[in-house]
Amino acid sequence: MTHDFDLFVIGAGSGGVRAARFAADFGARVAVAESRYLGGTCVNVGCVPKKLLVYGAHFSEEFAHAGGFGWSVEGATFDWPTLIANKDREIHRLNGIYRNLLLNSGVELLEGHARLLGANQVEVDGKTYSAAHILVATGGWPFIPEFPGCEHAIDSNQVFHLTELPKRVLVVGGGYIAVEFASIFHGMGADTSLLYRGELFLRGFDQAVREHLQIELSRKGLDLQFNADVARIDKQTDGCLRVTLKDGRELDADCVFYATGRRPMLDDLGLENTAVKLDERGYIQVDEHYRSAEPSILAIGDVIGRVQLTPVALAEGMAVARRLFRPQEYRKVDYDLIPTAVFSLPNIGTVGLGEEQARKAGRQVRIYESRFRPMKLGLTDSQERALMKLVVDAQTDKVIGCHMVGPEAGEIVQGLAVAMKAGATKAVFDDTLGIHPTAAEEFVTLRTLTRE
Ligand code: FAD
Ligand code: NDP
Repeated sequence: MTHDFDLFVIGAGSGGVRAARFAADFGARVAVAESRYLGGTCVNVGCVPKKLLVYGAHFSEEFAHAGGFGWSVEGATFDWPTLIANKDREIHRLNGIYRNLLLNSGVELLEGHARLLGANQVEVDGKTYSAAHILVATGGWPFIPEFPGCEHAIDSNQVFHLTELPKRVLVVGGGYIAVEFASIFHGMGADTSLLYRGELFLRGFDQAVREHLQIELSRKGLDLQFNADVARIDKQTDGCLRVTLKDGRELDADCVFYATGRRPMLDDLGLENTAVKLDERGYIQVDEHYRSAEPSILAIGDVIGRVQLTPVALAEGMAVARRLFRPQEYRKVDYDLIPTAVFSLPNIGTVGLGEEQARKAGRQVRIYESRFRPMKLGLTDSQERALMKLVVDAQTDKVIGCHMVGPEAGEIVQGLAVAMKAGATKAVFDDTLGIHPTAAEEFVTLRTLTRE
């Protein structure tokens, strides 16, 4: 039976665009449906605008440090609407690039909400299309728990469109988004508190990294409140939001930003018309080749809830395109050693196992740790320190974890991830000459064993 398309992709985000473009380049007839914005979460309300705001927030520190180098920058002021307008213009430009990428690859772009009608049928704006394969790449959506007054909280979709910088912000959550946005608001000059329900934020990261970031953020004046759980939010007549915690304390804010995780985007997707199954967490269940329980329907990216990062969605999209249309080049996505950064101020960069994870996995480890004052701060009053840490397998000498908190940690750890992927041992790190004077050279001069 012939279909309208070989591949119908639902969602033009990171994973969907990658799969569609490559499938079309491999000669497939491809359509993509997109209901909101080309480029998906990452381009519109994720990685890209977030990083632009992080760059913006950096300036307050740069201005504070400038005096030590002889500069006078008194009177510097910040205008949030200017930053947001410039950010919007840049994203509009990127939307256009995504459109051209798709159209130039020969992909048919359908701008509307897509709904599955069956194993091989999709409806967009009342029109039905058939396809041999359907790829669900619909991403995720912010999740705010239900509690009295939760309607007064904003989420990560809304935060990028605030018309003015709130004076007092409460950020709720202890994951990537909460930590990054607490740094952004604090850097912009808002009076910022981060409330996290547990003992210490960034669960799952190396303990030393979490503790180091806690110290550095507190040192900068960011108010961190752990074991703090919100009971209710009440809007006062003057517009102020009164947040009552479960321990009875009350905090006032102009903006309460919830960053408490994301759910898969399955709204009105028509899964009930197919045999697709969800896993116990509610994400689309797929096998190692991203095939759902309905053989013609595949799913990738945030909607399968494995690792919710753009480079992972890209790799999964590429794998699907190759397996279906260029099988000779197909290889499975390798989920080992995925490097990642938290763009807090200072950044975290990390790849591989944390010390506790490695011990839990029964590995004998040697730990090399260094804490130092970055050279750039030498002429300033800042007491900020950087952390670098290597976790080494004591039996094989392989570096199995590499962690950093400090300026440009994401940039530095990306290169080290290549070395680790190639199986570098601690001896290889030691044999590598440094680039002097940099912070990164510390990773190849860590000679003193911290603990075994
Ligand atoms: P998405 O990019 O979410 O794309 C899904 C697309 O499907 C959307 O455009 C949506 O409109 C569309 N869609 C949904 N349903 C339908 C339908 N029925 N019909 C038609 N279209 C539909 N990752 C990083 O690696 N680095 C970062 O720094 C980073 N920062 C982030 C910051 C924030 C605030 C957030 C929220 C996320 C961040 N991420 C980051 C995560 C990253 O954005 C996601 O992992 C990535 O976008 C997932 O890609 P995806 O293709 O699965 O889905
Ligand atoms: P995360 O899953 O990273 O963190 C969610 C946080 O919210 C956790 O601290 C969690 O606590 C807390 N939480 C969950 N439910 C509740 C609740 N009911 N009440 C109070 N707190 C709650 O989600 P994010 O929203 O921060 O980010 C989503 C994903 O997007 C990330 O996991 C990451 O994959 C991706 N991302 C990547 C970035 C990057 O690469 N730099 C940046 C931003 C996002 P607990 O730990 O106790 O469960």
